[in-house]
Amino acid sequence: MSESKKLPDYTNQPSEWYTQIIKEAELADIRYGVKGCLVFQPWSVEAMELMYDFLEKDLKKRGHKNYWYPTLIPESYFYKEAEHIQGFSPEVFWVEKGGDDKLEERLALRPTSETAFYTMFSLWIRSYKDLPFRTYQRANVFRYESKATRPFLRSREFHWIETHCAFATQEEAFQNVMDDMESTKRVVFGIYGVPTIVFERPAWDKFAGAHRTFGADAFTPSGRVVQQPSTHMINQHFVESFGVKYTDKDELEKTPWTTCYGPAISRIFASVVLTHGDNKGLKFPFEIAPKQVIIVPIMMEKEPKVLVKAKEIYNKLESAGYRVEIDVTDKRPGEKYYYWEMKGVPLRIEVGPRDLAENKLMLYRRDTEAKITIDEKDLISEVAKNGKELSASLKAKASSDFEGLIKDVNSISEVKKIVGKGIARANFCSVEREGESCAEIIEKETGGKIRGTRIDVEEKLIGEGKCVVCGKKATKVVYIAKDY
Ligand SMILES: [Zn+2]
Repeated sequence: MSESKKLPDYTNQPSEWYTQIIKEAELADIRYGVKGCLVFQPWSVEAMELMYDFLEKDLKKRGHKNYWYPTLIPESYFYKEAEHIQGFSPEVFWVEKGGDDKLEERLALRPTSETAFYTMFSLWIRSYKDLPFRTYQRANVFRYESKATRPFLRSREFHWIETHCAFATQEEAFQNVMDDMESTKRVVFGIYGVPTIVFERPAWDKFAGAHRTFGADAFTPSGRVVQQPSTHMINQHFVESFGVKYTDKDELEKTPWTTCYGPAISRIFASVVLTHGDNKGLKFPFEIAPKQVIIVPIMMEKEPKVLVKAKEIYNKLESAGYRVEIDVTDKRPGEKYYYWEMKGVPLRIEVGPRDLAENKLMLYRRDTEAKITIDEKDLISEVAKNGKELSASLKAKASSDFEGLIKDVNSISEVKKIVGKGIARANFCSVEREGESCAEIIEKETGGKIRGTRIDVEEKLIGEGKCVVCGKKATKVVYIAKDY
């Protein structure tokens, strides 16, 4: 068996492992000629298409309608909201010419589309009967990143869903923000198997133009943060700048409350890769695997019957709705096993001459590495059962790995010891602007960032209840970790 291209160790060299698996599993090619932009290859695109489907179904169930907006946004739209343009302007790509003609107005390649949506909201929203107004689009966005780029994790063009919604009351808007975080848990953990913690971000880390920002964070097994979807309470000042108004039941003209939510599918995909991987390569949950079953015929050259049977099995699985492939390359069986295990295919079915005589098949599970002999007549039910079990076991393992990463700390030196390996949980003086200087000290001395305060659990202060940096009375428990 040839295992020539061995991957770096997943636990001890996660960064090298990540770089290598992207190449080996053909997830993306980074050799395209625009810095920070990459070519996504079929193996990642197919998984991300499936991931998009689950998210979009969830949003549609909650009443979101889908739109396709132009990629170009006029500069004047951006300048309507001062805080927003201030936050985004260093990251905007500008289009200044059309052919040889200088454009009358510069056009931005959308870095996010609030300004585009709100411009149209001002034309569409007229009456209280138009509310709530829930929209989304699936789109690629562009950001001129100055930090080092990393495939799927941080790039200058990425793929996401952005939702933009308007409500009559602040309470409804807030409820929508909380529902966004529930969607995140339902889909990102429930289907993709990636555990997250939901934080409210500190005042200095809010989305440009937002009143409050909530974000889910996932963590790699080595304790690094991979930021997951964020959702924002925009309040009213933003839409006020765009003249979005409606006539209420009492005939008075009012301003709606808006929210937005941005699950970046390419970054969530990075978390799927990092959360479930191992020394052999990728492991896909059954629901989002580009191929769910790989069929490997054994000795197909000597025994033509084997290939006939393999095709029969393929047809059965395909017509039952499974994503399946037969490996008919001239590689040896061992090489085929190695290759598809590396690609993260959940189940493998081996068809050999001996099993054939007995109407048996060999089924291999990528998660447990168990080989199970099954009766051919039970093929469909065994695939369904093992697929389901595999997803559940990936989730359970990810959850237990995740819980082990969080450690309570009482001093900056303890923070330093934890971050990079895990997540430090610490008392903190304030997550409003006055706490920013303590956050800066943490970042400077430990490389860790304050991710925020948890909103899904009640938290008690640790020990004597003093800020881990300045020693003043703490008001919050925060989580500190290094990001990518
Ligand atoms: Zn402090």
